[in-house]
Amino acid sequence: SLFVMKFGGSSVGDTERMQRVAKRVAEKQDEGHKCVVVVSAMGDTTDDLIDQAKLLNNKLPARELDMLMTTGEQISIAMLSMAIQQLGREAVSYTGWQAGFVTEPVHGKARITDINPEKVLRSLDEGKIVIVAGFQGITADGEITTLGRGGSDTTAVALAAAIKADACEIYTDVDGVYSTDPRIVKVARKLKEISYDEMLELAHLGTAVLHPRAVEYAKHSKVPLVVRSSFNYNEGTVVKEEAALEQGVVVSGIAYDKNVARISILGVEDIPGVLAGMFGALAQAQIDVDIIVQSGISNGKADFSCTVALDDRERAIEVINGMKLVLPYREVTFEENLVKVSIVGAGMVSHPGVAAQMFDVISKQGVNIKMVSTSEIKVSCVIEGNKLNEVIQALHTAYNLDTDV
Ligand code: ASP
Ligand code: MG
Repeated sequence: SLFVMKFGGSSVGDTERMQRVAKRVAEKQDEGHKCVVVVSAMGDTTDDLIDQAKLLNNKLPARELDMLMTTGEQISIAMLSMAIQQLGREAVSYTGWQAGFVTEPVHGKARITDINPEKVLRSLDEGKIVIVAGFQGITADGEITTLGRGGSDTTAVALAAAIKADACEIYTDVDGVYSTDPRIVKVARKLKEISYDEMLELAHLGTAVLHPRAVEYAKHSKVPLVVRSSFNYNEGTVVKEEAALEQGVVVSGIAYDKNVARISILGVEDIPGVLAGMFGALAQAQIDVDIIVQSGISNGKADFSCTVALDDRERAIEVINGMKLVLPYREVTFEENLVKVSIVGAGMVSHPGVAAQMFDVISKQGVNIKMVSTSEIKVSCVIEGNKLNEVIQALHTAYNLDTDV
C-alpha cells in the first residue's frame, strides 16, 4: 500500500527524535509499503523565527514572513532524509513547490489550488522514500506561500488525495482522538473511530489534534485518516466517512475552547441591514465571529451579542466603534473569562433531549449558561470559565463516556 505519514513539530523536535521517525518510516517500508513523509518544522522553530523577525520589523511584511517561515520545514526535510539514508534506505527531500503544491496568491494562509505530484510519484517508482515539506506552496507566479499555522496536516492530506494514497497517518504526541481532554478527565477514552463531520466539529472547537482545513480536505477527498502517536505503537483513531456508532453512544466527544470573548452591542436601531453592516465590517477585518445571538427588542432597539477569539476582542471593539456613525447603537461591551463547552456526536440526530440534558448537567454544577448554539451533531454552551473542569467531568459521566476503571 501507499501511505502518507505526517510528523508534527514535536515528533521531529531534535535529532534524536528525528532518528526515531526515520526508524519508524523504515519499519513501514519493511512491511512492504511505499511511504511519503510530510514533516513540520522542528519543535518551536516557526514561533522562534517569528519572534526573531519581530526584533527587526514589527509589521512583519507578509511575503518575507512566508519566505522566512518556510525555511523551518526545509531544515526538517533535509535532516530527516539524511537520517533515513543513514539507515541504508534511499530517500529524497522535496520542498512544497518541488512536490507540486500550487496555491492562491495570498501570503500567510493560502489555499491549495492544484497539486502536480509528478516528482513525488517518480521517486516513489524508483523505490525511494519521499520526504515533503509541510505548510508551504508556490503561486502560479512563482511566489512562495504558506498554508496558515498548523498547515502541515493539510499538506499531508492533500498530497494523500493527489497521489491516491491508501491512508494518511498523522503522527503526533498523543495516542489518538479522545472523548475529551485527558488532562481534565482521567477516565477519558480513546476513540477507535470518528466520522469526518464529528472530527471537523472537534477540530473547529479547539481540539488541537488535527487542523480543521485538513479534516475538510479529507472529508472532501475521502482519504482515510489515522491519528496516532509517534512515541508508541498503540492503535490510533481512524477518521472516516461513517464511523461505527457504539451501542447507545449519542455523544462521542466533549470539547472546550478558552479562547472566547463575548461582545455585546446594545441598543441598536432595529432596521434592515444592521446585522449585515456590523458583521460585514467584522468579516472585512478578518475577525471570525462564532456564535451570534439577538437577545430581544424593545422600543425599536435591539441587543446583539457574539463571540470572537480572545485576541480579536480589542480589534472587534474598534471595528464596532468605527461603525457607530453608520449604525447607531447605545454601547458596546465585552466579557472575558468565558469558555465554550461543546458536545459532539453523530448519534445526536436521532436522539432528542441531548441538549436539554446538557443544560441540566451544567445547571446542576451551579453554572450559568450565557449563550447556546447548535448544529445537527453539536451543542455548544458559553459559560463562565471558573468551573470548567467540573462541568466537563459531569458531562463526560452523564453521556456515559467514562472508561471502566
Ligand atoms: N510549522 C508550521 C507551524 O508551526 C506548520 C505546522 O507545524 O504544521 O505552524
Ligand atoms: Mg509547528
